[in-house]
Amino acid sequence: MFQRFRNTVIQFMWGRNGTDPLNRFLFWAYFAIWVISLFFRNWLWGWLFALLLWAILGWLVFRTLSRNIPARQAENRWYLHQVTRLKDIRRYRYRRCPACKGMLRLPIKRGRRTVTCHRCRHQFKAFFL
Ligand SMILES: [Zn+2]
Repeated sequence: MFQRFRNTVIQFMWGRNGTDPLNRFLFWAYFAIWVISLFFRNWLWGWLFALLLWAILGWLVFRTLSRNIPARQAENRWYLHQVTRLKDIRRYRYRRCPACKGMLRLPIKRGRRTVTCHRCRHQFKAFFL
């Protein structure tokens, strides 16, 4: 009985995106926002939170069941890149090279300085707070 159910689920999920780090994040975000929403009891906030929660849930289900795996993997890569950026925030800043549009990870030195792109050797001025 359970085995049959399991096989049905596996067959249904075949060729679909399933769970990835971005979906896990969406799940926890949904849960966290739901908890926060319990503290906002008036109708306007309730309505806004409900809308937000449905949007997250919709995106989560859509991503899990999607058959367009390359597109979902691209989203997941983008998400993982944002996580890396956040982890690096104390040591590095990210700037886009104006010449080759490549993303550069630069160690923080405060103030205005000249940066050399490691990909195309283009030099440009960048400001670091
Ligand atoms: Zn460049």
